[in-house]
Amino acid sequence: MDLENDGKCTCQSCGLPLRDPNVRGTNSDGGRNESYCYFCYRNGSFTMPGITMERMIDKVANMISMKKNLALAQSKQIAASTIPTLARWQSR
Ligand SMILES: [Zn+2]
Repeated sequence: MDLENDGKCTCQSCGLPLRDPNVRGTNSDGGRNESYCYFCYRNGSFTMPGITMERMIDKVANMISMKKNLALAQSKQIAASTIPTLARWQSR
């Protein structure tokens, strides 16, 4: 079993790495969700069901900027190239 392939170990809403099971979202039955992180998905539903892709890019850019100590413009480039490829945003 290779968990590192195809970017499947990142949240399909925000791109957060899901290697640590504690970061994974929770299903309505209390189990861990394989596709989404705890910040995006809890108890079987999205925490921000109405969020747009543009807002998510802004949020993630802020997070990257803080975590990696990058300039916001640079973080936004990273977010803007990652977020639209995730499963949650493919149906638009
Ligand atoms: Zn997420």
